[in-house]
Amino acid sequence: MKADEILREFGVETNRGDWAVHSPVDGAEIGRVAFDDAASIERKIAQSVEAFRAWRTVPAPRRGELVRLLGEELRANKEALGRLVSLEAGKILQEGLGEVQEMIDICDFAVGLSRQLYGLTIASERPGHRMMETWHPVGPVAIISAFNFPVAVWSWNAALALVCGDSVLWKPSEKTPLTALATQALFERAVKKFGDAPANLSQIILGLREAGEALAKDARIPVVSATGSTRMGKALAPVVAERLGRSLLELGGNNAMIVAPSAKLDLAVRAILFSAVGTCGQRCTSLRRLFVHESIYDSLVAQLKSVYATLPIGSPLESGTLVGPLIDKAAFEGMEASLAQARDEGGKITGGGRTLADRFPNAYYVKPAIAEMPEQRAIVCHETFAPILYVMRYAKFEDVLAKHNAVPQGLSSCIFTQDVQEAERFVAAAGSDCGIANVNIGPSGAEIGGAFGGEKETGGGRESGSDSWKAYMRRQTATINYSDALPLAQGIKFTV
Ligand code: NAD
Repeated sequence: MKADEILREFGVETNRGDWAVHSPVDGAEIGRVAFDDAASIERKIAQSVEAFRAWRTVPAPRRGELVRLLGEELRANKEALGRLVSLEAGKILQEGLGEVQEMIDICDFAVGLSRQLYGLTIASERPGHRMMETWHPVGPVAIISAFNFPVAVWSWNAALALVCGDSVLWKPSEKTPLTALATQALFERAVKKFGDAPANLSQIILGLREAGEALAKDARIPVVSATGSTRMGKALAPVVAERLGRSLLELGGNNAMIVAPSAKLDLAVRAILFSAVGTCGQRCTSLRRLFVHESIYDSLVAQLKSVYATLPIGSPLESGTLVGPLIDKAAFEGMEASLAQARDEGGKITGGGRTLADRFPNAYYVKPAIAEMPEQRAIVCHETFAPILYVMRYAKFEDVLAKHNAVPQGLSSCIFTQDVQEAERFVAAAGSDCGIANVNIGPSGAEIGGAFGGEKETGGGRESGSDSWKAYMRRQTATINYSDALPLAQGIKFTV
């Protein structure tokens, strides 16, 4: 099915507006959308505040029912939405479907959560008093998302925010507005089935960075959850901080794997392939740095090179393809520039360069590259959003751990080892400094049950599972005096 047929099925009109959306699969225009202007953004924010005021008083388990209905819509339309993700973001169909599955999973999680927004009761030091800590809805939540997970990122935030009693305003990437509109259509269907949800509970704002900035600036939006590049996060965070708002940042990664001498190499190779070339290296958790023990370096790298030489690169819609296109020309130029710098810094490059240009002259397919580096040079410390795997050898565990942590980003990390001491040290306090640390699993493809996010220039935010929901609520400590006296805390006497 073509993009316009799928969108028609969702009831989304695609021939409105001046902004042309191109598919990375073949560069063809697949729709046009209109951006929101300043007046429209202002109106939507005001509507979101109104929706929040009504929604916050709906009991949380009832709010969960709306998210349950959303999950049902996603289940029923998984195939169509997954295909649209492939068409608009260029990931292979299996990954498009996986992305929608993640949305379904987080809806299930949020439905359960809607009955578990637990607070605390706290022992009071004063007689006849009770203290409690309660979590309340916080307000409209802005969700700014990146192109590479065009719909899942919204759901990680929105499913939680909605059960927490918040309204949401979504500014998708300008590269992927169509999947956002399709998702919104499914949300509207769920709202209709739900019956009495306030209008404008979830709205879309389309635009470039200026639209995101308008949300970042607005004091009516207490939480701004932003996913994208570190450059974006560094520009956005001070704007939100200026008004003392809360930002939840999910930014760039520079994820590594250590392959120790005892590693099961067949598992390591499979994990390297999925995480380094999957999604054409365009995941925040993609594997970018590979540290291999010197005793197995030559054989592992030779094995990788031979598998890289036979990778099925092609249209993400065709079965058998494992590597689809880069998102656009700028991404291709970024990859070329990084490979040139890697070469200048002493790297030996295998692969890289454009491919399938005859068949797809307006799209950017590349051969994933392996860059054997003498050291962790400047380019290795930089996130290039493309399939470049920097490979380095190591001799001592302590040294490789230090190198592993010596980059500005701190998202995901992993070690392949059968040595329990190494495995434990990797996940201990002095081990990996990342938000995600895996043993005998690659760095990408996290489950929604855990908190997702990373440290340092990755921004420090946590989304999805565990207690990430607390970011979408405000905490209130309430003390109730049911005695006939008025004792003061800290034993203070203050009588007139
Ligand atoms: P990007 O930073 O170019 O854009 C992301 C979003 O931010 C877009 O919607 C964009 O319009 C908006 N934006 C840009 N500048 C802004 C500003 N100053 N104020 C407000 N909004 C602004 O990122 P991209 O190219 O779409 O995505 C790739 C990047 O996203 C990579 O660095 C990747 O690692 C990162 N990413 C991180 C995660 C994570 O969970 N940590 C997940 C996916 C992607």
